[in-house]
Amino acid sequence: MPTDPVPGLLAHATEALEAEFLSLPPVEATPQDVEAMSRVLAETAHRLGDNYPYFHPLYAGQMLRPPHPLARAAYALAMTINPNNHARDGGRASSEMEIEAVAQIAQMFGWTEHLGHLTSGGTMANLEALWVAGQMAPGRVIVGSGQAHYTHSRISGVLKLAYRPIAADRHGRLDLAALEDELRKGDVGTVVVTLGTTGIGAVDPLDEVLALRARYGFRVHVDAAYGGYFRLIADALDEPARRAYRATEQADSIVVDPHKHGLQPYGCGCVLFRDPGVGRLYKHDSPYTYFTSKELDLGPTEPKSLAGGPVHLGEISLECSRPGAAAVALWATQRLLPLEPGGSFAQGLLRCRAAALELDRRLRADGRFEPLAAGAPDLDIVVWKIAAATAEESSARAQEIFVTVATADLHLALVQLPQSWFGPADAAVYDAEKYVTCLRSVLMKPEHVEWLDRIWDRLSSSCAQ
Ligand SMILES: *Cc1c(COP(=O)(O)O)cnc(C)c1O
Repeated sequence: MPTDPVPGLLAHATEALEAEFLSLPPVEATPQDVEAMSRVLAETAHRLGDNYPYFHPLYAGQMLRPPHPLARAAYALAMTINPNNHARDGGRASSEMEIEAVAQIAQMFGWTEHLGHLTSGGTMANLEALWVAGQMAPGRVIVGSGQAHYTHSRISGVLKLAYRPIAADRHGRLDLAALEDELRKGDVGTVVVTLGTTGIGAVDPLDEVLALRARYGFRVHVDAAYGGYFRLIADALDEPARRAYRATEQADSIVVDPHKHGLQPYGCGCVLFRDPGVGRLYKHDSPYTYFTSKELDLGPTEPKSLAGGPVHLGEISLECSRPGAAAVALWATQRLLPLEPGGSFAQGLLRCRAAALELDRRLRADGRFEPLAAGAPDLDIVVWKIAAATAEESSARAQEIFVTVATADLHLALVQLPQSWFGPADAAVYDAEKYVTCLRSVLMKPEHVEWLDRIWDRLSSSCAQ
């Protein structure tokens, strides 16, 4: 493991934090059995060794990106206080930091006005967005592509809203003709548009869905849990994805996961609504509420209510207690690495994408592999099947290689994809039943670009066996 700057950073910052509370009378130290704690912690470290090395560039499998050292340090620093962002009584400073950090994310999507907050993750954020969608269009159906995150149908079940999946095309993007067929039925209330599908990183045509919204009238919820930050490098993407990202400001709600591409530890999702007025849907009368603002006016990015009275994030969130530390870590990270096109965070995303395009290029030039027939990846996830006489054989080979490369310390992932996405387009009859197991690599660490030769060598020699 590389030298970890966190302990040093933390020691320094802890002193600074302690200095903030010097006016309090000192508290006698509780005796602590440091030796026993140290023994247990060593045992804990040993248990943690039973993990894939997610922090290492040869881990190129699932969606896992190590948090930024500053995020870890800020999170640990906040643990000294352990604030709760449910209410300002529980987390005064961290609630303000959350409001600021979330406003910066909203700005990235082109919004100067919004309502939004952090959540425990993308699933809770999507739940909240669909809960609002259901109230705005009662009795109407939610639709999303077959490649949308599997939790959308489950969430709809929890909310007792009808959900219908619609076809994805050979790029893995929402199929517009199939969507229009659904819209003609007249009962669609919300369309879930995924910018960066979890399986293959496909970017649904948001701009074209918005054009349909103008004709048919429905809510557009953008699930950008994985791909949201690529808004910063929209200009460097291929044309359809570029147009989709440029349209984010017209969405009704957006979800993004800072704990995916945003360099945060787990427990950090974000939901945003374009119309701050949806705040009225959250009204509640909890007797436990520390205090309530007279009017729920969390308005624009510069929260008016901060001046007019305390903002109580619990009033606009389905979850009650939430880690203020998550907001502190996010705020610090965005202070160091602002969400700016051309900035150093955006440069990192460009490198991830360069790694993916290079891997895809090499796969296409090698007869042993068959990448997606439709073309290069939209973002930084690469998928490919193993060339074989039958789909069964191809699937079996992919599983073998998945195991073999791991013995050479290269960790990939597997994904089931429709067979029709490989091979010539005219032969493709959409048949959701026929799947083939493919290899999948999420190249979400900027270092992957420098490690690509080493990744490729391991993949190549594992396939030769
Ligand atoms: C990861 C993901 C989710 C779920 O988010 P969690 O943070 O894992 O709860 C939802 N949608 C998409 C597109 C995702 O990639």
